[in-house]
Amino acid sequence: MRVAVVGGGLGGLAAARTLRSAGVDVHVFEASPRAGGVLGTSSSDGYVREHAASSFLGGPARGALALCKELGVAVERASPKARRRWIYIDGKLRALPQDPVSLVRSDLLTWRGKLDLLREPFRPSQPAANGDESVYDFAARRLGAEAARAIVAPFVTGVYAADAHDISLEAGFPRLAALEAHGGLARGLARQAALGVFGKVVSLASGRRRSDGTERGLWAPVGGLGALVAALAADLGDRVHAGAPVARIEPGAGGVRLVLGGSSGASLPGDTWDGAVLAIPAEDAGGVVAVPGLGARMAGFHRAPAAIVYLGYREEDVPRARDGFGALVALGEDVRVLGIVFESVVWSRRAPAGHVLLRCIFGGGRDPAAAGLDDAALIAQATRDAGVIVGAAGTPAHASVVRWKRGVAQYGLGHRERVRAAVTAARTHRIALAGADYMGPGLNDLCTDTARILDEVRAW
Ligand SMILES: Cc1cc2nc3c(=O)[nH]c(=O)nc-3n(C[C@H](O)[C@H](O)[C@H](O)COP(=O)(O)OP(=O)(O)OC[C@H]3O[C@@H](n4cnc5c(N)ncnc54)[C@H](O)[C@@H]3O)c2cc1C
Repeated sequence: MRVAVVGGGLGGLAAARTLRSAGVDVHVFEASPRAGGVLGTSSSDGYVREHAASSFLGGPARGALALCKELGVAVERASPKARRRWIYIDGKLRALPQDPVSLVRSDLLTWRGKLDLLREPFRPSQPAANGDESVYDFAARRLGAEAARAIVAPFVTGVYAADAHDISLEAGFPRLAALEAHGGLARGLARQAALGVFGKVVSLASGRRRSDGTERGLWAPVGGLGALVAALAADLGDRVHAGAPVARIEPGAGGVRLVLGGSSGASLPGDTWDGAVLAIPAEDAGGVVAVPGLGARMAGFHRAPAAIVYLGYREEDVPRARDGFGALVALGEDVRVLGIVFESVVWSRRAPAGHVLLRCIFGGGRDPAAAGLDDAALIAQATRDAGVIVGAAGTPAHASVVRWKRGVAQYGLGHRERVRAAVTAARTHRIALAGADYMGPGLNDLCTDTARILDEVRAW
């Protein structure tokens, strides 16, 4: 079996590795000069900058942590300080409660909001009228309007850079949807362990729930995710063809034909294949696959643009960014940044001694126009917002921008059905769909999805 993987981001590379391990003769075609897609790490002024993802949760068993270990990539667990999380809401930075006691003391919700939250187990679960529901509507219905606004919506922004009104519960947060299907959050979680309702919701959200023996907590390769990309590319060796954009995938009898763009075709291993794994952003795939009907389906998926502004400060100039993972911003606040990660608090050796590195996220589905601002405007906005939220003072010692036109995959209402239809249409032509647009955008999702892709290929 000879399979071409089109797109050398983590989705394509991880799929290629799984296929090769199963004995498939696989080659990866990547348009840009280097593999990794949005993932990568670079240094500037002594600050270490992740270009997109910066971490992943310890589970599941065949997730990103397992892949790092298989490849011999050294990993580190996030600092214990990262357990603390902040929400910027109503003009103030407030701690996210970690347990029922801190919930009672918290100023994140009013007493009415706290009581609403505690009533969750007594609310009957009900399937959404049209089969799908936004995360915001679900949270407001089950946990109350205050918890939806102050806890759930900022958390959704942290994962999808999106407004929680726009994200499908069943596609974006399938574990929550499954709990609802089993009688509600508390009832579902009560089956798994005997902690309080709120503690379990927070644990689920922060990934510290692990009843299956896999690793807990937040992880990253030592020095950044560039190390994982480099190890994957080295593992696949001369099967990765960088600087090889695929212009067209044409279905043929018992396989597909690849037409390469650019001038890189001469030394590539043939143009006919038993099938292809399509691992490029779905919005770009429409123009590449010459399959009637499939291109139009691909246009139904969307990755929102994103920009990361990195700001470096002297420690003493950022008094409120010394403890915690970072701050997420609630909807409707008078700042434009979606969230600020205290990168050098969470990970070791990310900033020069005596300095802190802030990772400020802009754009996404919540504010796509922000990702289109020029560097100077973005840095000015980030500096202002960091001043408002974490008290950053003076001119940053470092400021730089990383931006992506195709940034964070957005799983809107009806996403599951769109995926099912696109996967089925592609399968008919021996094309398997991979990458962040379909089964989950996180690094763990991409790694675990490789088992499904192998099944697709075996079924051809
Ligand atoms: C700002 C940001 C922060 C994030 N943070 C996290 C996080 O902390 N944790 C987490 O788990 N996830 C995070 N994510 C999500 C995660 O990084 C991405 O979903 C994932 O890396 C996408 O991988 P991919 O392979 O699907 O796509 P990509 O990385 O986009 O790769 C697609 C590849 O296809 C190539 N390509 C395109 N067209 C062609 C063509 N015609 N021929 C050949 N090649 C082509 C592109 O050059 C690219 O290399 C974040 C994403 C962003 C943008």
